Amino acid sequence: MNKYFKNSEKLLRIAESKIKNEIISYEEMISATLFFGIGIESLMKGIIYDVNPVYVYEVASFSNAMAVVYKEKIKVNNIVKNHEQIKKPNENVINFSKAFSRAEHLSKTTHEHKKAIYRLKDARDIIAHCPIDDFDLLKEDRLKNILNQFHILVSLYEKELNLKFIESEVDESEATSHLLNIQTKIQERIAESKQIWNSKKDDANHIQGANIQTMTMDATHPDTDNSYLIECPACSKEAVLFVNEDYAMDEHGNYFVENFYVQNLSCFFCNFRVIEAEEIDYMKLHEKERVIYQGSGQTQ
Ligand SMILES: [Zn+2]
Repeated sequence: MNKYFKNSEKLLRIAESKIKNEIISYEEMISATLFFGIGIESLMKGIIYDVNPVYVYEVASFSNAMAVVYKEKIKVNNIVKNHEQIKKPNENVINFSKAFSRAEHLSKTTHEHKKAIYRLKDARDIIAHCPIDDFDLLKEDRLKNILNQFHILVSLYEKELNLKFIESEVDESEATSHLLNIQTKIQERIAESKQIWNSKKDDANHIQGANIQTMTMDATHPDTDNSYLIECPACSKEAVLFVNEDYAMDEHGNYFVENFYVQNLSCFFCNFRVIEAEEIDYMKLHEKERVIYQGSGQTQ
């Protein structure tokens, strides 16, 4: 276990000890969520560290890596000695967002639970950076949803990495029934939306309203930001995927989109909606291909 994994184990076990109480106060939920968040952050850094310790740092240049990670390897103190970065190395490690963007390429669990991890990051950020009075952003239900996923998510990482982070075990049947539960809920709503679409597809007013709402959400529309269209999983018309983008700065000071997260899916033709993080991840909405708005009320 590398040092980030060991750290993650300690942090996740603190969260685990709080969650295992049957009755858990709001303050304990806040604390468990914080330790869950920083535990997963450290776990993702551990994944990156195992590929190359240099990638855990904000500045991954040769001279900085030499000064921060491989100091003992420097044998000749001539050119490197006078190098600015060697004199003043940047020892900052990457933040949650950067760790996530890197670990996503290296770990299936990270990629497949993108939205759930983003939701966790959001809660962690509120706890770490907002005044306590603003915690009403973190309603009890939201914390419960986050903490409900603790054992499932950590056990998926344990399986993927062949490591043990927490004491408790999640058995196969528990994980399967969790997934089945999500699947059933989605299938029920898809069936419902299909019926809605069947009853409304010949209603010219409905089609016109849906067309207008959808068209203005298309990424090619000049007023539209943070949304684009995909094929609706229920009615096959165009549905709107609302996304959040995470920006980072390159070495020349220019901002670029480092990662994006699905906020929700809404179809104005059949009323199908997906909001819950687990459902967004289960349906792999981050991977759906964009479609171009067709602009017609014709059914398939
Ligand atoms: Zn639809």
